[in-house]
This record gives sequence, C-alpha cells and structure tokens, in this order.
Amino acid sequence: MVRVLIADPIAESAIRKMKDAGLDIVLRDASSDGPIKDQIKGFDGVVVRSATKITREVIESSDTLKVIVRAGVGLDNVDQEAAKEKGITVMNTPEAPTVSVAEMVLSLMFALSRNITRADSSMKDERWEKKKLAGTELWQKTLGIIGFGRIGQEVAKRAKALEMNVLAYDVVDITEACRTYGTQKASIDDIISKSDYISLHVPLLPQTKGMIGSAEFEKMKPTAFLINTSRGGVVDEAALVEALDSGKIAGAALDVFETEPPTDWSLIKHPKLIATPHIASSTTEAQARVGDLTASKLIEALK
Ligand code: NAD
Repeated sequence: MVRVLIADPIAESAIRKMKDAGLDIVLRDASSDGPIKDQIKGFDGVVVRSATKITREVIESSDTLKVIVRAGVGLDNVDQEAAKEKGITVMNTPEAPTVSVAEMVLSLMFALSRNITRADSSMKDERWEKKKLAGTELWQKTLGIIGFGRIGQEVAKRAKALEMNVLAYDVVDITEACRTYGTQKASIDDIISKSDYISLHVPLLPQTKGMIGSAEFEKMKPTAFLINTSRGGVVDEAALVEALDSGKIAGAALDVFETEPPTDWSLIKHPKLIATPHIASSTTEAQARVGDLTASKLIEALK
C-alpha cells in the first residue's frame, strides 16, 4: 500500500480525497511522534505546510520517499537540492490563491479611488465628510501590470471587464497572453509614466528588490495609485513615504511589507496609504483549493 504522511494539518476534504484514491494516510502529531527524520521511513509521500521542515537530514533518512508536497506557495522549508539528489519530486500549489489575490487587487483599486477606508473611519468618528471624500472612476483609466504571470493575467481579465486600458510588462515573452486578455505589451518605463494604477505581480528576486524606488516615483503621474500584493521589498518603502508626502503619487495600497509584521508603523499610518496584513490569499476558497490541489497532485505523482 502506498503510504503518505500528513506532517502539518490540511483540509479534511483533501484527506478524504487521498483516502478515496486508495492511499494509506497517517496524520503526524508533532508533539508525540518524535523527530520526523525517524518517522519518515516507509512513507512514499509527505505533505507539509510551513511548520514542518524537510531538511537534508530528513530526506537522507527517508528510504521509500518519492514525493514531497508543500500545501501552499513558499518552499523555504524543503531542502530542494537534497530532494533532487535523491530523485524525490517536490511540488507546491502556487495556483491556489490566484483568483483571491486578483480580487484583492480590484478591491484595493476601488478602495483607493473612492476613499472607502477613510470614509468608513471618519463615519465611525461621527464625521460626515461628504465633500472631502469625492473620488475618481476606474472606467477608461490605464492600469499598468508589472509581472504578467498567473495573478497579473487574472487582474487584467477583471480590469478589462471594467473597461480599463491595460498595459503589461514582463521579462518573458507575453505577446500571446496580451492577445488572449486584450492587453497592450509595454515597457516598464511606459507603465511607470502612463498608468493611473500600477499593480505589482513579480516574485521577490535580486532583480526585483526595490524595483519601485525614488527614480520610478519621480516619473509617475501625480494622480497615480500604486498597489503591491506581491512581496514586500519590491517597493522601496522609504521612497514610497517620500513620494506620498511630496505628492509625487496620489496614494498606495500595500498587502505586503519589507518586515512582517512591520516594526516601524509610520508608513502604515500614512493617510494616503491603505494597508492590509498580507491577506490577499486569505479566503475560504483559496484555502479549500490548496487542499484540493495538494491531494490531486499527490495522487497523480504517486500513481
Ligand atoms: P507567477 O510566477 O505566475 O508570475 C510572476 C511573473 O513575474 C512571471 O511571469 C515572471 O516572468 C515575472 N517576472 C519575474 N521577474 C520579473 C521582472 N524583473 N520584471 C517583470 N516581471 C518579472 O507568480 P504569481 O502566482 O502571479 O505571483 C506573483 C506574486 O504574488 C509573487 O511575488 C507571489 O509571491 C505573490 N503572492 C502574494 C500573495 C499574497 O497573499 N499577497 C499570494 C500569492 C502570491
């Protein structure tokens, strides 16, 4: 029988799906099961979230392990090099949160344009600031997307439905994707200088760290809004504070930060900024999809 160790808690529905596929499922209890390096022997697959670390030592002490599935995105807790050396397949589920993040981007664009968060907090302070809170429409505005992968494309699809003009930039060839979504391929400079909304969807890499800094804010429209749901560090936070203070841009919305949770809260408290605590993928549906994708990928790989 093919044996799978569920090292961190995952959705009940995913466990049922794996059992239905004939897999022998063992739920690990980290408090009583001892070190995973001793427990891993005899298992063909292991499922982890972020808590359990599949280190080189764990991989080397495994004897029948063929597949490691990280239910979620980041693979920092799995030694991929050690797995590769032993011919063990490592998988994750980066596609699970795509729609949730795209919907969050649209929410933040609306919230920025219509001062939703400021309107709500002034009402709760018993103030009726009708005149101060006039906004702008998204209709026929230009959205610039930097990083036209899974999430960037879902954002584009939704923005097109709002009849926005969508520009996209990526380091890979996106000609076909632009045709599919009716977006216009653009240079990063065009996106920076022509967009009313700029949304970031790149991974955090040495090349993307601080890619939006003072030089970029200098070229943006004073009416532009910046949205970052990708990774903290892609935006230079000190430069953003300066751009908001000096009116180089109209506002920004951040779901991700250089330090999480932040230690310096001055940017968060800026009146032109909307801040959310890394919740773009925190939806019931995205969580369910993580479980579902984990189960299907594991079943497929162990077939
Ligand atoms: P993806 O891999 O599908 O797309 C990323 C795109 O960025 C790729 O097309 C890639 O070619 C492009 N890219 C890489 N370097 C670039 C550069 N220097 N300039 C321009 N483009 C570049 O990833 P995705 O699933 O769309 O995720 C995008 C980002 O969103 C990632 O940083 C991911 O970690 C983040 N994310 C955040 C949350 C959240 O909760 N806030 C949830 C999921 C994903």
